[in-house]
Amino acid sequence: MTTRELAQQATAVENGNPVPSDLPQGHGLIIGITGPPGAGKSTLTTALVTEIRRRDKTVAVVAVDPSSQASGGALLGDRIRMQRHHDDHGVFIRSMATRGAVGGLARTSAALARLFRGAGFDFILIETVGAGQDEIDIAAAADATLVVIVPGMGDDVQAIKAGMMEIADIFVINKADRPGVEQTASEMEAMLSLTPEDDRPPVFRTIATNGTGVSELMDVLIHLAPRPRSIPGPQWQADHLGIAVRSLAESLPFYTDQLGMKLLARETVEHEKVNVVMLSAGTSRVELLEPTSPDSPIARFIEKRGPGLHHAAMRVDDLPATIRRLELGGARILSEPRRGAGGHLYVFVHPASAGGVLWEIIQDSYSAPHTN
Ligand code: ZN
Repeated sequence: MTTRELAQQATAVENGNPVPSDLPQGHGLIIGITGPPGAGKSTLTTALVTEIRRRDKTVAVVAVDPSSQASGGALLGDRIRMQRHHDDHGVFIRSMATRGAVGGLARTSAALARLFRGAGFDFILIETVGAGQDEIDIAAAADATLVVIVPGMGDDVQAIKAGMMEIADIFVINKADRPGVEQTASEMEAMLSLTPEDDRPPVFRTIATNGTGVSELMDVLIHLAPRPRSIPGPQWQADHLGIAVRSLAESLPFYTDQLGMKLLARETVEHEKVNVVMLSAGTSRVELLEPTSPDSPIARFIEKRGPGLHHAAMRVDDLPATIRRLELGGARILSEPRRGAGGHLYVFVHPASAGGVLWEIIQDSYSAPHTN
């Protein structure tokens, strides 16, 4: 793939298109770089790029630039400094505005990282803006996450403890020539002493502006292995088949009279413009869908493909977590979760992500608020 082709594909991914499915898995290591604003994440990223190239490895960078004018200046300076790599084919830098990512920052960053890994880069660095849900989601998609802090953060070490502790594989105290570095280091040490020694993240000191400590950090990164991708998934349970019919009056007797299925519920879902009949089919169910209006999605489906199997449905125990997981994997979710008349929560996954089948994913009892 040429640099130009890669740039075009990256733009397509940013615009919400899926990562090409014929792309090889790749061997590259995806590293998230996160931490509070002002910690020097961009400078550290730049220093890592230089160090990676010094070792004859290739690197792609996904940099998330805050769209706000206020904090953009310093990052821009680093971006320009990074441009000295611009004619180097072993370096590919993608800067993404926070407001620009169609389908969410975490999803887009993760998708770009997969694209770059598939394109064969040895390292993929994802540099994030700050510390929040996006960063936690990006960490979930990365092989390792660096949490960058600076001396003199005071109470902020507590804030890191709250949000970043779980996702940090390595801590970096950057700007380690600043006063207060010893205090920050001992605060970190005290904080980390609470975690079992085996999964205690190492703490590095760097001065990214002149490269101090970066080689030592790289010595560790270069020996990390990609995390296995087969993370245990949610509990799946086949739930029902959704069948589009022109007329319930005509279709229902086959199911009730001939097959002897029990009618569980009958309802009208206004926002979908559809009459729904739910039938018991052993441990599973059959759902008949009749359009109430010609502009109903079901009416359009019947017009295009005729009546018949419309979707298949799976039930999970934690829908928000399932959605995040699917999105990070590159699947397209068709809408925010909606509540069905039966009180259950549901979303649809685009058929393009699922072998041509429209999948409905539902959660029967809903307890946690969806925060995305
Ligand atoms: Zn359904």
